Amino acid sequence: MKYISTRGGMAPQPFCDILLEGLAPDGGLTMPESVPKVSAATLEGWRALGYAELAAEILGTFIDDIPADDLLQLTRAAYAPEVFPGPEMVPVKPLNGGMSLLGLSEGPTLAFKDMAMQFLGQVFEYVLTRRGATLNILGATSGDTGSAAEYAMRGKRGVTVFMLSPQGRMSAFQRAQMYSLQDSNIHNIAIDGVFDDCQDIVKTLAGDLEFKNAYRLGAVNSINWARIAAQVVYYFWGWLRATPAGSSAHVSFCVPSGNFGNILAGHIAREMGLPVRRLVLATNENNVLEEFFRTGVYRPRSSAQTHATSSPSMDISKASNFERFVFDLVGRDPQRVKSLWGELESRGQFDLGALKPQFEQRYGFVSGTSSHADRLATIRRVYQETGVLIDPHTADGVKVAAPFVEEGVPMLVLETALPAKFAETIREAVGIEPPVPEHLAGLDALPQRVVNMACDAEQVRNYIREFAPLPDSEAP
Ligand SMILES: *Cc1c(COP(=O)(O)O)cnc(C)c1O
Repeated sequence: MKYISTRGGMAPQPFCDILLEGLAPDGGLTMPESVPKVSAATLEGWRALGYAELAAEILGTFIDDIPADDLLQLTRAAYAPEVFPGPEMVPVKPLNGGMSLLGLSEGPTLAFKDMAMQFLGQVFEYVLTRRGATLNILGATSGDTGSAAEYAMRGKRGVTVFMLSPQGRMSAFQRAQMYSLQDSNIHNIAIDGVFDDCQDIVKTLAGDLEFKNAYRLGAVNSINWARIAAQVVYYFWGWLRATPAGSSAHVSFCVPSGNFGNILAGHIAREMGLPVRRLVLATNENNVLEEFFRTGVYRPRSSAQTHATSSPSMDISKASNFERFVFDLVGRDPQRVKSLWGELESRGQFDLGALKPQFEQRYGFVSGTSSHADRLATIRRVYQETGVLIDPHTADGVKVAAPFVEEGVPMLVLETALPAKFAETIREAVGIEPPVPEHLAGLDALPQRVVNMACDAEQVRNYIREFAPLPDSEAP
């Protein structure tokens, strides 16, 4: 399996060569040359597998430059009971109205990003060790991504993390989660500014190619292909649990969406042959993607036009993984992708309305939005009717999924976070304190390790110079 760029300007490369890179050199995103197909018989044969074993099978269809035995060791380490300590790693929890939750938030940071990041941590360490190389991950976070990355990379050989976060802008829980890590390869830097300021500093430093190369700066952002591949696994897992043995019935999925990474993995699973009827895309008030699937017009917003909502992890202005879906939509024509993104740059939008009939008929996509009032009402109603407490992002999914539920087709709503992470909205909706999982109780009492810094890229640069292990001092 080789990987190509959505913009056509990259020679095909194996998985391990694209693993540590962000964008393809031509500015596009990497995609497998062709999507591996899974037959009904193969799928049926996977029913008895545990999560780690299933992950090794599915990831193995995308990765042919890591031996199968090694890959299984990596998935067993990533998806170990110590990492996902609940009674089940990825539980399917029935709600009512034909819906169930696919529980993706049983990991260390209580959000679905752990599912992919834990694999990323293992495979980064494996590849870096094999190459005798090191990597310094520089990132910015508003909360969820940073903590998932840090928990996945802590203590990993060859990897050092520098994570910028906006001072005083994260919840107390999110701060405690990140800053309580004491591992020497994790550096938390709290910037006197907002998330966009942190992001700008990352762009400045990563854009300085000399610095980037000298310090081997890398990223773990949502365009990383290994994250997408690892997310494909739980669509198969959910399907295998929602259908009886021997069945090839269809299942629908609803995905609370922001950067289009999670639902893109659903699209890939469907293209692989998983019997998925609908992929229901849920947005909050920031409805760039809902608008596209409703009208065919893709019109990213400015930061100023991006609302701060009570499902903050979906507050995006442009969906960084969307280009991968468009690549498939336009028949994998890189020239067409290039011209669309050129249009985006010059006119701020593009219009694929002519392909609109395909969105649902060919690809199963439908969409809807949810507001703050919808979120509160949904959290309250689900709690009263079923006793299950859901987080605000998952509530957006439940709200949007409802009109798309069909008789005889299970609807799995992806549970992208646990309510403990967003206590304020839970209190507003149902007036109770969300339970904190046992392994995180007492988190806020732990000592915190964070460096405060002015909003100044040069100070961050100097800090990295001081603390990044230089490649030649590390060579084996
Ligand atoms: C990241 C995130 C999302 C959005 O996922 P995308 O892959 O960016 O579409 C939704 N909910 C939660 C809780 C998240 O952390």
